[in-house]
Order: sequence, then structure tokens, then C-alpha cells
Amino acid sequence: VIMMGQAEHSVVTTCAYCGVGCGFKAEMKGQEVVRMVPWKDGQANRGHSCVKGRFAWGYATHKERVTKPMIRKHITDSWKEVSWDEAINYAASEFRRIQSQYGRDAVGGITSSRCTNEETWLVQKLVRAAFGTNNVDTCARVCHSPTGYGLKQTLGESAGTQTFDSVMHTDVVIVMGANPSSGHPVFASRLKRRLRQGARLIVIDPRRIELVSSPHIKADFHLQVRPGTNTALLSSLAHVIATEGLIDEAFVAERCETKAFNEWRDFVSLPENSPEAMEEITGVPAQAVRGAARLFATGGNGSIYYGLGVTEHSQGSTTVMAIANLAMATGNIGREGVGVNPLRGQNNVQGSCDMGSFPHELPGYRHISDNVVRAQFEKDWGVTLQPEPGLRIPNMFEAALGGSFKGLYCQGEDIVQSDPNTQHVAASLAAMECIVVQDLFLNETAKYAHVFLPGSSFLEKDGTFTNAERRISRVRKVMEPKNGKSDWEVTVALSNALGYPMNYKHPREIMEEIARLTPTFSGVSYDKLDKLGSLQWPCNDDAPEGTPIMHIDAFVRGKGKFMITKYVPTDERSTRRFPLLLTTGRILSQYNVGAQTRRTPNVMWHGEDVLELHPQDAEDRGVAEGDWVGIQSRAGETVLRATLTDRVQPGVVYTTFHFPESGANVVTTDASDWATNCPEYKVTAVQVTRVSQP
Ligand code: SF4
Repeated sequence: VIMMGQAEHSVVTTCAYCGVGCGFKAEMKGQEVVRMVPWKDGQANRGHSCVKGRFAWGYATHKERVTKPMIRKHITDSWKEVSWDEAINYAASEFRRIQSQYGRDAVGGITSSRCTNEETWLVQKLVRAAFGTNNVDTCARVCHSPTGYGLKQTLGESAGTQTFDSVMHTDVVIVMGANPSSGHPVFASRLKRRLRQGARLIVIDPRRIELVSSPHIKADFHLQVRPGTNTALLSSLAHVIATEGLIDEAFVAERCETKAFNEWRDFVSLPENSPEAMEEITGVPAQAVRGAARLFATGGNGSIYYGLGVTEHSQGSTTVMAIANLAMATGNIGREGVGVNPLRGQNNVQGSCDMGSFPHELPGYRHISDNVVRAQFEKDWGVTLQPEPGLRIPNMFEAALGGSFKGLYCQGEDIVQSDPNTQHVAASLAAMECIVVQDLFLNETAKYAHVFLPGSSFLEKDGTFTNAERRISRVRKVMEPKNGKSDWEVTVALSNALGYPMNYKHPREIMEEIARLTPTFSGVSYDKLDKLGSLQWPCNDDAPEGTPIMHIDAFVRGKGKFMITKYVPTDERSTRRFPLLLTTGRILSQYNVGAQTRRTPNVMWHGEDVLELHPQDAEDRGVAEGDWVGIQSRAGETVLRATLTDRVQPGVVYTTFHFPESGANVVTTDASDWATNCPEYKVTAVQVTRVSQP
């Protein structure tokens, strides 16, 4: 513990980083944080934490925090500090000018999974009610949008099925496309505890992650799948289960749609889906697939945990549905120790999706074309809402380049660094006439902005986050905002300046509105959260204290629906020009684009992104440990330092994306999931060559 003095009081709040959503006590001396202590009563973490949550809060007082609003007429001009009123009025007048010149739908907004539920609610409300368009999207577009789509189609709800505690009742775990030791450390600790008690482990990942082989833990199977072939691998696992009599027939007969199940069984049973037929595609030995399938189907309670290595593919939604199929076929839904569990990257990915930030859905995942639902919002908000879906983030970029999208309100999201094909994003932003960025720091996106509205850190605001297990927890203000306003107050001011009045005195009132208009949140209130610590939605009259495990007696959609998940190869295949496949991930001490962790002084922080290269591929290219290498793809090129390791298989390279200097997304392409446009970050065909120091 870094001891900085004696605390005078403490405030319980929620970590601002990953989707575990750990509870912390901020120990305070006046307006200074003395230390962050993991909250022993936190239901997501039970007194545990990782290095980020415990030590990475220094960014909140970093000298680069922007605390004054700024405007400029053109992005080549210098920023000019102005009052809040001037900045807000300028932004509002520019948005209205654009709408009168180019039409109502020439503007839109992007919400952030780093912001609270209440803030996200207000941004989507501002876009729909004040702008009068459905051009609102969330940064979850580029991470877990396939989860929302795939789980809704199969199970009926766009969310994970379990609590984190459920893992302590599991017997066999599949971890697919996720590296919990780095991305979700507190969950990883709980998982490891269960594995040490004897639970079995199947890892599906192109890279040998820490869980595959670490002290006291060894995976029973590591299915080292070739990037881009997840769906093929899941089909081969399903083939074994279907053809070797391992389906839980009683569960399927009682709980699932018969016709869809029969079609699925016929499909996966085809010889072309056998492990032997798929081996050449996936690179995974057929015998290992057969062994893993038998273990999962017969080993007791089976649970599946997955991450962005599943969703960020051109078949991301297909793979999510294939995971749900596997869980239903083996009867592993609806009780402790089983289930389908997306590991959400950011603290409020689940919440930003729940709050209606998708262009086709109102809060609670209800389609915008639903006249009854829309009428409820119209009555409450006193406006007429558009019935047609708006633009997704990639569509906004295309429309900007086409000249029909000109104004963007972007809260807490650095799209230039985090979205794929940086050059494409930058060109799109440069084509717009008014970009309003609301953030803590002058990030990469701010280089294209005309108005900068200083953001507030999680320590400076009240609200709620919803973690990966649907757990709503309170965020409590521990210090006054450095910029004079919490983020929600800024959105309220902007809406008022646009002529659509918002009158909230505290985020508590926003939650009351959320509860009034969202059936899955109708039983949520700050009083209840204060009393119970947290609540897992659905929380309503049927479940006044929340729902730890979903789909117990029936699926949310009634009967579970098996979906045909045919493997379609991605365009990102190795070629003579681009012979290697690049995939990406995170490290423990950094968080996403690093805006917060890079600005937290701490000696344990890792200092740069590096490229992992198999020694055989390195030798072919004359690359030695620590050499600089150029990485070229059809989108662009960047330079990184190389490290040689057999954690990656020959033909596969890997890097993280925490530093803007490395520009991992300069090389990722704009290929995306067929259903949701989630970018295919996890597979990019590249060439790697040795270069001199940049
Ligand atoms: Fe924060 Fe996630 Fe670490 Fe918990 S595990 S302290 S939520 S970063």
C-alpha cells in the first residue's frame, strides 16, 4: 500500500476500470485521496482488487487534466479558453446550424462505456430528443456489440447469465478469446481458486495465455486456434457432442425450440464440421477437439467465459451464437456453475448498452420501431421520436466522408486511437464541421475537435456502473469536479442550450427516470442500492432484489433458439504479401488506450507496446530480441519493438494497443462483424520486417 497520510473519512465507490466492477473505499483527507482500499463487502470483488483499481487513480489529478472549456473555429487554430456558457452555447449553435443547413440527421452522438449509466442515458436522450435523430451509438460497438446481438437471438437477453460467484460451482470451464489474468484479474483469481479445487479447464485462444500453464494450474486442453476460425472450431466441438450422443436431450426437449434444434443438429453433424475436416482450417488437432468436447459435455457443470477474442471478428455474432448453442446443447444454462459469461472490457459496457445507446434500440433493448415502447418515451420526454434506426459509428464515418454527416458529440471515447483503421477515422473526422469532445485529456480525437468540454473522473461524480454480471453498483462523488461540473451536468447544459429542457438536480433523479421507463430496471433506486450494496438486473416486481442467475425456469425469449452458425472465412487471410496474422490483447497494468493508466505515475507500469513474434518467424526475417520491426497491412503500417516468444504460434504475431505512439490500429482494417459492425481487430494479415530505430 502506498501510504500517503492519515485518512479523515472514506467513501464507498466503484472502480473505473474493467467489467469486474470492484467496490472500493476511497480513504480521503479533505479533497485528496489518501488510498483506495478494496471494499470487503463489495459483492463483485469481496475485498479483492488488482493493481489498476488500487493504485491507478493518480490520473484524476494529473497536470494534463483539462479543466477549462475551449473552442476554436478550425482544427488548425489554437484552442481558446472560454466560459462554460460560451462553450456550450457555441456547440449548440453549431449543431443547430448544421441541422438547418444539412438536415436533422447530419449530427449524432457517441456514448462511453467509461461513463455512468446516468450520463449515458442523458447523451442518448439528448440525441433522440434534442437533436431529433437516432444517430447515437456506443463505444461498445467496437467490443461487445456481437454479445448483445448473439445472446438476444439465442437466449432472449443481451447479457451474461451468471454471477462471478457462480464459477465456484463449476466443474469444467471454457475460457475463449479472453485473458482474465490481464483483463479481469479479480475474476481470474476466483477462477484460479476453483481450478485449484479441481475444476477442469479448456482454453481456446491463438496465444498461450497465462491460464494455460501457470503455477499450480494447467489447462486440460489448450485449443490453439488459428485467428479468424473460432466458428469453425465451435462447429467441430458441437459435431462431437451431437454425433457421440452427448447432447442433454431432456434439457433441449423441455427448454428449446424443437425445429431450430433439429436443424442445428443436422448441420453440426455434417462430415464437413467434424474435427478431422476442420483441423486444416483451425490448426487444432482433431483428437484435442474430441477430448475437449467430451470433457465439456460430460464433466458436470460446464461454464463458458469469453472476451473480445470472440466478438471482434467478422463472425463475432456467429461465434457468440455458437457459444450459446453449445451451452444449450449440454444443458448448461439456468443454474449455479454453468452459463454463458461475456467478460466485458470496460467498467460500464453492459450499462452503456442497457441505457439505449444503440441507434436501433431504446433503453432495455427495445427496438426503436416498436410503436408502443416509443409512445411511452414520447409521453415521458414530451417529444416525437424517429421510428427508423440511426447511424452506427462506422456509418457515421462513411456518411461524413460522403458529406451528409457533419456534427458529432463524443463523450469519453477516443475514437481516433481506439477504432480500427486510424487513417479512415481521421479522414472522416476531418470532413466534419463541428466535433465536440468531452474528456479528461486532450486525446487523439481532440485533435479534430472544435469544442472541448472538460470531463470529470469517476472520483468527481455520482451515478452507477453495471458490470459484466449485470450488477448495478453506486459510484459516489469523493471530491468536487476539477472542472466545476460533473459530466451529467454538462450534457444537461448542452441540452438546455439546444432548446430541449432537462431539469435534474442529482443523478438520483435520472435513475428514477431510468426505472420509470425501463422494465428491467423498474425496481432499482439509489435507496435500494445504498441498502443492499448492489443489484443485478432484471430488478422489478418479479425480482425486487435483482436476478443473480438468468433463464432458470425458462429463457427470457421463452424457448431457447439454436442458430445455424456456418463458418465463413474472413478476408483477412495470410497471403504472400501479408503472410502473418496479427492479433491483439491487453496487459495487466494498462487499460485500453491508456489515457488513465499512462497518466498514473507508478514504477510498475509497463512502458510500451511490443510485438510478440515466434522465434521461427523471427529467424526467417533476421529479427532478434528487442529489434525494431515494421508492421504493414493493407490499411497502413507502424513500427514496434519485437520480442521473441513461443506464446504465439508460428504465423501469428500479437501486440497490445495501450500507447498512441505504437498505433496498433493504424494497421487494423475496417473489416467488421456481419451483424453489428464490430471491427475485426483480432485478425489482420500483416508483413513484419526488421527496420532501423524509428
Ligand atoms: Fe478495477 Fe477490474 Fe482491477 Fe477490479 S479487477 S480493481 S474492477 S481493474
